[in-house]
Formats: sequence, structure tokens, C-alpha cells
Amino acid sequence: MINTKHRIEFDSEKCVGCQMCYKSCFVDVIRWDSEKKQPIFKYVEDCEHCFYCQSVCAKEAITVIPDYSSEHLLQSFPEYA
Ligand code: SF4
Ligand code: SF4
Repeated sequence: MINTKHRIEFDSEKCVGCQMCYKSCFVDVIRWDSEKKQPIFKYVEDCEHCFYCQSVCAKEAITVIPDYSSEHLLQSFPEYA
């Protein structure tokens, strides 16, 4: 498991249940709650920080906050040094 403090803030009051965020996520972070008709952010540590979900949300209900200090993002590329 990747040790990270990535966060995704979701404002359920703004959400209108359009499913755009759910359809835009190409990894397994966003699931759909068919009872509440809202997204569920499940495996946030797998988020790739593409910001698709945040970008497609016309209601600005989602804010992706990457943890830039996490090991996952602190990669070293000595061949380019
Ligand atoms: S894109 Fe925004 S409004 Fe649509 S379901 Fe996702 S959070 Fe809700
Ligand atoms: S930022 Fe990209 S990878 Fe992360 S939850 Fe949103 S759509 Fe999925």
C-alpha cells in the first residue's frame, strides 16, 4: 500500500448526481452510491492526480488535493540529473 496523504474534498450539498466524475475516473478511486446518487471516494491512495473529476464537475463539488511530499510523487530520475 502506498503511504500518502492525498485528499479529495467533496461537497455533497453542491452535487446534483450527474455521474460525470464517476465516469471520468480511470482508476478505482470513484465509486457510485446509487441510493444517495452521489460519488464515493474509495481508494484515494490510488488517485493519479489527473484532476479529471474536479474539471468535469460543473458544480465545483470536488477538490483534488495531492500530497506532493508523499513517496509516491517523490520519484528520482538520476538519468536526467
Ligand atoms: S460531477 Fe459533480 S455534480 Fe456530478 S456527480 Fe460528480 S460531484 Fe456530483
Ligand atoms: S484526480 Fe483523476 S485519478 Fe484522481 S479521483 Fe479524480 S479522476 Fe480519479
